Amino acid sequence: MEINEIKQESKKGTRTLVKCLVCGEIFDSSLEKCPVCGVGREHFIPYEVEETGYQSNTEEVFVILGNGAAGISAATAIRDRNKTCTIHMVSNESVRSYNRPMLTKTLISLKDIKQIEVHNPEWYEEKNITNHLSVTIQEINTEKKVINLSDNSAIQYDKCIYALGSECFIPPIKGADQPEVIAIRKFSDVQRVTDLIPKTKNAVVIGGGVLGLEAAWEISKSNCNVTVLEMADKLMGRQLDQEAGEFLLTIVKNAGIQLRLNASVIEITGQNEVTGVKLATGENFPADLVILSSGIVPNTALAIATGIEAARGIVVNEHMETNLPDVYACGDCAEFKGVNYGIWPQALAMGEAAGANAVGDAVTYENVPPVLTFTGMNTSLFAAGDNGKTPGIQYTTVMKKDETLKTFEKYYFVDEHLSGIILIGDTSKAGKLTNDLEEKRLLKDMNL
Ligand SMILES: Cc1cc2nc3c(=O)[nH]c(=O)nc-3n(C[C@H](O)[C@H](O)[C@H](O)COP(=O)(O)OP(=O)(O)OC[C@H]3O[C@@H](n4cnc5c(N)ncnc54)[C@H](O)[C@@H]3O)c2cc1C
Repeated sequence: MEINEIKQESKKGTRTLVKCLVCGEIFDSSLEKCPVCGVGREHFIPYEVEETGYQSNTEEVFVILGNGAAGISAATAIRDRNKTCTIHMVSNESVRSYNRPMLTKTLISLKDIKQIEVHNPEWYEEKNITNHLSVTIQEINTEKKVINLSDNSAIQYDKCIYALGSECFIPPIKGADQPEVIAIRKFSDVQRVTDLIPKTKNAVVIGGGVLGLEAAWEISKSNCNVTVLEMADKLMGRQLDQEAGEFLLTIVKNAGIQLRLNASVIEITGQNEVTGVKLATGENFPADLVILSSGIVPNTALAIATGIEAARGIVVNEHMETNLPDVYACGDCAEFKGVNYGIWPQALAMGEAAGANAVGDAVTYENVPPVLTFTGMNTSLFAAGDNGKTPGIQYTTVMKKDETLKTFEKYYFVDEHLSGIILIGDTSKAGKLTNDLEEKRLLKDMNL
C-alpha cells in the first residue's frame, strides 16, 4: 500500500501511522523496519496526519529538477494542494524515485529497483505526474522560463523547483578514475559493485564514515577481505567523541574488518585494473575493488550558471525561495542559514516546503536536527544532538560502558539540560531519548 493511501486510511481512523525519527519517513505502524533507512521500531514515534487545508487548483506548470527525496516530496506537496496543475519531474537516472539510503544498507542484496522504490508506477499515473527519466538538464533559462534537456526537448514552466541533490566528492587521488573505483550515490553504482563482487578478493573502502562502514560491512558478507582506510585519527569524529570512537573501533575490528586510522592515501594502483591502494607511508593494501566514501558536493553548477545565488549550496530562505522569482531550491543542493547536513529528513522537509510555497501556501522550514544511526558490524549506533562539539561550552557528561555486553551510553548536558546522546550496542532507548533531547530534559529528571 502506498503512503498516500495509508494517509487517507489513517484520516478515516482505520490505520495508525508512525514517523521514523532517523529519516523522517512516515509509514504504516505495522512495519517492523523503516523502508527508507532500515532502522527498527525503537526509532518510531506515533504520527498524526495534518490536513493542509490549502487548495489552489490552477493550470500552472510546475517543473521539478531531480527526482530524489526533495523532488518527490515537493511533487507530493504540490499535488496535495493543486489537483489540476501539470507536474513534470526530470532526472538523469533511468529509474523513478527510490530510497537512496538503502543503497549502502542493502548493497549486496539489492538486485531490483522495485525493492527500494518510493512509489509504484500507478501512483504517478493516479497523481498525474510526468517522469522524464534518463535525460540531463542542460540549461535553465529563467527569463524565458524554459528548461532545456539533453534529448533536445524543452519544458516551459511557471514555477521551477531545483532539487538536483549532490554527487560524491572524489578526492584528487592518482588512479581514482579506474572502473573498479566506485563512489556509491546511484542505483547504477550498486549495479557496478555487484558485478565486480564475484571476482573480488580484497576490497578497500576509503573513508570510515557511516556510509563507508555500511558498504564495508555489506561487502564483507560476500567473503572478501575488507579494509577501511580513514584519514582522521578517529571514527565518525563529527558525531562521536573520543571514548565512543574507540569503543566503535574495537567493534569494527572484532567484526573482521581491517581498519587503519591516520591513513593518507596517495595512489590507487593498477594498469588495466585496480591492484591496490598506497598510503603516504609507503604501505600498500591489495585491492580489486575500491569504494570511495569521502563526502558530498552539492549540485549547484546549473543554478550558478543561470544567476541563482549559491555558497556551498543554493541559498534559500525559510520558504525555499532562491534570489530569482519562481525558482525554489531544496534538498542536498540547497542551504538554509548556511546549513546543509545532506540528509534524507532535511531533503524531505525542504522539498515539502518548496512544493507547498510554490503552489501559494505558506509553509516555513526549520533546520532539521541531524541524527546518526548505523546498523552493522554486529552492533547498532545512535548519536544525536551536540556531543561536546561546540567550542567554549562547558559540558557535563554521564557515561556507562559494558565491555562484556558491548554496550556504551553517553549523555552530554549543558547547564544540566540534555544536549547530546551517544548509544552503541543497545539503541532501544533512542526514541524516548530523542524526545528527552527535544525537551532538553534536566539531568536530575533522567534517572541515569
Ligand atoms: C549511499 C547513501 C546512503 C545514505 N544514507 C542516509 C541515511 O542513512 N540517512 C540519511 O538521512 N541520509 C542518508 N543519505 C543521504 C540522503 O540519501 C540524501 O540526503 C537525499 O537522498 C538527498 O535527496 P535530494 O532529493 O536532495 O537529492 P538526490 O537524492 O541526490 O536526487 C537528485 C537527483 O537529481 C539528479 N540530477 C542531478 N543533476 C542532474 C541533471 N543535470 N539533470 C538531470 N538530473 C540530475 C540526480 O541523478 C538525482 O537522481 C544517504 C545517501 C547515500 C548516497
